Amino acid sequence: MRIWVGIDDTDSRKGMCTTYLSVLMIERIEKEGIGKLLGFPRLIRLNPTIPYKTRGNGAVSFLLEVEEDRRDELIDVAREVVESHAELEDENTNPGVVFVEDGGEVMDYLHRYALKVVRDVVSLDTALFIIGKFMLPHLKFKKGRGLIGALASIGLELEDRTIEILAYRRPENFGLPREYDEESFYDADWETYPLTWDTVDWMNEVVVAVPNSPDPVLFGIRGDDFNAVMKAFEMVKTEPIDRYMVFITNQGTDMHLIHESEVEKLEDYHSYILRGRVCVEPYEITGGHVFFHIDTRFGEVKCVAFEPTKQFRSVVRELREGDLVEVYGSMKRNTINLEKINVLEVAEIWVEENPTCPICGRRMESAGRGKGFRCKKCKTRAFEKVRRKVERNLDTGFYEVPPCARRHLSKPLIRMKGVKRHIFR
Ligand code: ATP
Repeated sequence: MRIWVGIDDTDSRKGMCTTYLSVLMIERIEKEGIGKLLGFPRLIRLNPTIPYKTRGNGAVSFLLEVEEDRRDELIDVAREVVESHAELEDENTNPGVVFVEDGGEVMDYLHRYALKVVRDVVSLDTALFIIGKFMLPHLKFKKGRGLIGALASIGLELEDRTIEILAYRRPENFGLPREYDEESFYDADWETYPLTWDTVDWMNEVVVAVPNSPDPVLFGIRGDDFNAVMKAFEMVKTEPIDRYMVFITNQGTDMHLIHESEVEKLEDYHSYILRGRVCVEPYEITGGHVFFHIDTRFGEVKCVAFEPTKQFRSVVRELREGDLVEVYGSMKRNTINLEKINVLEVAEIWVEENPTCPICGRRMESAGRGKGFRCKKCKTRAFEKVRRKVERNLDTGFYEVPPCARRHLSKPLIRMKGVKRHIFR
């Protein structure tokens, strides 16, 4: 029989990673001959605004071929792996594992549920209701909140998908600074981009593929093409790799974004594609965060490009009243946190100013109320102000945050074909 296993919420800020724990679980299942992995495991990113996520709100699922009489052993191994590796002593770690037989009515049900977990906020009761309705075998540790993501990672349909190869550290190196040759990551990017992306950020000089957190991940190479990802993986030079795994993912797909036409109102903890005209021009607050407001069908909405979005802010700073834009990002505290912007129309801006002297070319001064303008030196006169079109330093098209500020789910412009785009690399 073919069984999906879904896992979530096994890590804490202090360590572990659900992908790593899943790899350990797969290894044991295969080693003990309980089942065989079919295809690649899936790393599914869920609603990026969920407050109790550890980092990237990721959950993992994988499909196994299992002998019917060994199903209970599969559940025992899953329990043992979670018990021995999950960060159970952390208050915010509440693992969940769920087992779903492939095919059938439950999968149809899970498809709809899973998209909701990517875009919306779902209660644990909803997940428990599904588990009860279909009598799904599951493991619930502590509050078991991970069951929400575990079910979603099984159910999510991937019309668009990307790949990530994750390399893990030797356990004795967990928590120590990562050793790697930065240049080799730039070389790998140079050779395999655009089939791989977000390995490095050239402009901000950051090796994006290597995390800073104390988890077992050494690096991850993301891309669209399996061979390109493998090539980059083989090119990079690092401390010894303990094990690695290729994952199919929904990273870089924009799956979290809800188009404004699908909703009646905007809510915090949801991510949107929203159109509007700039009605309050960009202003900067301490810390370098740049805000502006747009007039939308839901009223005035505040948008922000935070300091970590670096050079993206210089695009945002060029916006002026009347510009028509489409913003892409999550709503938090009634503010859209920008991931991308599509400048649809750059407004014409005209200013009125004193005419210039036809002889010396200097700007004329007022000759007194209602008396027009004059150049004292050349004795020339003019009667009306002149209108001048202000040159705009902004082009239409898509702009995105740089790779160092990219969210897992955000679709990089390099993946968006057939649109006018300005790519930061
Ligand atoms: P990592 O990326 O390192 O695996 P994480 O950022 O995925 O960590 P978790 O520890 O998995 O964070 O915590 C996220 C928790 O939120 C999980 O329990 C998951 O089930 C739950 N969750 C995920 N999406 C939603 C959602 N849309 N609504 C409610 N709960 C959710």
